[in-house]
Amino acid sequence: MKYISTRGNAKEYTASQAIEKGICSDRGLFVPKEIPKISLKEIEAMKQSDYKEVALNILKKYLTDYSEKELKQSIAVYDETFSHPEKTPVVKLKDNIYVLELWHGPTLAFKDMALQIMPRLFAQAREKNNSEKDSLILVATSGDTGKAALEGFKDLKGIKMVVFYPIDGVSDVQKLQMQTAPGKNVEVIGVNGNFDDCQTAVKNIFLDKELNQYLDKFKLSSANSINLGRLVPQIIYYFKAYLQLLKEEEITLGETVDFSVPTGNFGDILAGYYAKQMGLPVGKLICASNKNNVLYDFLNTGIYNKQREFFKTMSPSMDILVSSNLERLLYHVLDDSQMLNELYKTFEETGKFELDKKYLEKIQETIVGDYTSEEECLETIYDTFDKNNYMADPHTAIAMNAALKNKQRKTIVLSTANIYKFSSNVLKAFDLEERDEFKNIEALNKISKKEVPSNIKKLKSLEILHTRVVDKDKLEDILKTL
Ligand SMILES: *Cc1c(COP(=O)(O)O)cnc(C)c1O
Repeated sequence: MKYISTRGNAKEYTASQAIEKGICSDRGLFVPKEIPKISLKEIEAMKQSDYKEVALNILKKYLTDYSEKELKQSIAVYDETFSHPEKTPVVKLKDNIYVLELWHGPTLAFKDMALQIMPRLFAQAREKNNSEKDSLILVATSGDTGKAALEGFKDLKGIKMVVFYPIDGVSDVQKLQMQTAPGKNVEVIGVNGNFDDCQTAVKNIFLDKELNQYLDKFKLSSANSINLGRLVPQIIYYFKAYLQLLKEEEITLGETVDFSVPTGNFGDILAGYYAKQMGLPVGKLICASNKNNVLYDFLNTGIYNKQREFFKTMSPSMDILVSSNLERLLYHVLDDSQMLNELYKTFEETGKFELDKKYLEKIQETIVGDYTSEEECLETIYDTFDKNNYMADPHTAIAMNAALKNKQRKTIVLSTANIYKFSSNVLKAFDLEERDEFKNIEALNKISKKEVPSNIKKLKSLEILHTRVVDKDKLEDILKTL
């Protein structure tokens, strides 16, 4: 399997080269030359497989320059650091709704699904490609990627990591998780700006020739969801969820199910699109946005316009106006790099582009856009608990609301964060929010009766290691001091 740039640069790369590079030099993202297929027979054969076996079957199809032994070494991480034996359990609620829990990894958000395995794939890639220079991995985060990347890459040889996060745009627990992150090879920097400022600055650093001279001792890379090493592992749990429903006889082989995905950078839902293209019986993918509903507008009108007000919401990991991975979907739908180049040229110049109706309709066959207001989000948290005795975090609640509004068949709602990462926001649904976050955690524990994960409890006693804050146009200066 070879990988190419969405922007049409004709060069081909192996999976390990794409993972090590992160982003193409022509600004494009790496995509597989063709999406591999999987038959219903193969799906059926995996019915009794555990997470690791499903993972091996999927990864083998994409990461063809990794040996089976290497893949197994990387996949072993799911046994080492995930707290649930199923890794991604599916919980059945009422009304044909199922919840796929993706937050049983060490940092309690779905980012662990890819960011626990990716550092191993990355280290193997460096070996395969005989890389001598150290890698410098730059990360822009809206809250969860940062901690998950710090956890995955800490103390890895030959790798340095700098994480940029919006200082006022993350939850208290997210901030503490990052500020207390250990590891000799990591830096964590707060930015006076929002996630899009962090993401744009990181993209520009890659293209800044002058700065790259400073950074000549490093090979630059990214651990954001633009990295292929994030995308591919996310395909696994779509299959695993389907297989679990099959095993439990909730569905029959070949029956289509829908997935509702709380969306920000479009990485998670894009993995679902790949799963469907591979042959998983998926009907619709529901793209659930919060009040920052730029994708909802795009999916309904074909116009993507980032020139709009930015809202800070109760689901901060989805507070994004530029959804980078949409570029990959457009690449597959347009099948024409020239046209894609023109769209993104227009976007870079004007902050906006319009997709031809013909292609929009093609996207709408699979992807439905919806969005949830802050009030509806709280109502959904309350109602879901009331009806099903199931507590959802605000991100999950947004996908739940979109699923209930758009339901056509059995629908799997992706649950992307543990409730205790967003305790104060969850408590708002019950009118119980207090100021001290650790008090909120206790209060939430009383209502939900869900155990507080030890990684949250111990945050209180960890030393704060990272306090630097910079202005959004000063990110480059930090890098000059490395
Ligand atoms: C990152 C994140 C999302 C959004 O996922 P994308 O791949 O960026 O669309 C949703 N919920 C949570 C909790 C997240 O951390």
